[in-house]
Amino acid sequence: SDVITVGELAKRMGIKANDLIKELMRQGSMVTINHPLDYETAALLATEFNHEVENVAFDEDIILEDVGIESDASEDSSNLQTRPPVVTIMGHVDHGKTSLLDAIRTTDVTAGEAGGITQHIGAYDVELDGRKITFLDTPGHEAFTAMRARGAEATDIVVLVVAADDGVMPQTKEAINHSKAAGVPIIVAVNKIDKPGADPNRVKQELTEFEMVPEDWGGDTIFVEVSAKEHTNLESLLEMILLQAEVLELQANPIKRAKGIIVEARLDKGRGPVATVLVQEGTLRIGDPIVSGVNFGRVRTMTDDRGCQLEEAGPSCPVEVTGLSGTPDAGEPFHAVENEKAAKDVAGHRQRKLREAELASSSKISLDQLYARL
Ligand code: GDP
Ligand code: MG
Repeated sequence: SDVITVGELAKRMGIKANDLIKELMRQGSMVTINHPLDYETAALLATEFNHEVENVAFDEDIILEDVGIESDASEDSSNLQTRPPVVTIMGHVDHGKTSLLDAIRTTDVTAGEAGGITQHIGAYDVELDGRKITFLDTPGHEAFTAMRARGAEATDIVVLVVAADDGVMPQTKEAINHSKAAGVPIIVAVNKIDKPGADPNRVKQELTEFEMVPEDWGGDTIFVEVSAKEHTNLESLLEMILLQAEVLELQANPIKRAKGIIVEARLDKGRGPVATVLVQEGTLRIGDPIVSGVNFGRVRTMTDDRGCQLEEAGPSCPVEVTGLSGTPDAGEPFHAVENEKAAKDVAGHRQRKLREAELASSSKISLDQLYARL
């Protein structure tokens, strides 16, 4: 749950931890500096110290960000469970990213069994022998960089698509740079091997320049030769992803309030704001109060990419959610919070901060304009 330690709260308010501990003692709780406080207590304490410390009542850092970090650090590791990997497909234009995403999707037998009509919600998951993989299917670079720009690390594994008849191209290099900068492991899918001019070895050769050497050449980069068009080797690709995921030992705690990121959001005529979210920790449930940026609300409906209605969504699960007050940007974090008031307060606080920043910059502009006129 959302907590902050006594020490961190004191630091945030610019007071001595001892003063906060004394106040808590006065209220009847004996605590140490590392004692976690829940949101309500922290907010109350902040309000009490408000006459001494300005503008702390709803410092979102207190309520959310640090809270997340603190609670992760003090996390009971016995609640950690293996979670599915989240994969982004990147590569040069026309090398087959969209084709590969579509092809992988249709290899999933469970999708066929469910009989639902697939909908593009910006992410989907497939199953291989009971193990899940989540794919983000918003255009590779954009989503990846938008998320990284916000410090959101959503991707565990990058699948780099390189067309066997075209080789390494500018956006291939870009994708490699982005992935390496983010410290995300890369699996190379050499695509279009069905084409007459296909030369997978050339691709391997070219990639050695980027320290990506195939295993059979003595390196440690996984290469899979595929054809999105003819659905060749797609299962091997999925197996390699799962193998890499095992090495990464991806884990999350499903037993707490959900947090994650917005994959995409749009305004739907009938349903209002619709956001695809990726749950990264905890479990999101219908009715949960959530906040994302300046938007807040309660989860009204949750739908997967097959159009199935869900009651809950755990770690690595992508779901389309309705109930938010507006459409957050891709890459924006979201948090499930204690109650709707907390969600509203945090969103309101952010709104005020934004307005202040806007006012500050607009008054600066008008001053500049004034000077320009003088
Ligand atoms: P993206 O720009 O990376 O998303 O590439 P697309 O998926 O749109 O594919 C670009 C073109 O390559 C399309 O005409 C696809 O039909 C074609 N294509 C994609 N994968 C394959 C493949 O495995 N073999 C062949 N022959 N063509 C492919
Ligand atoms: Mg495409």
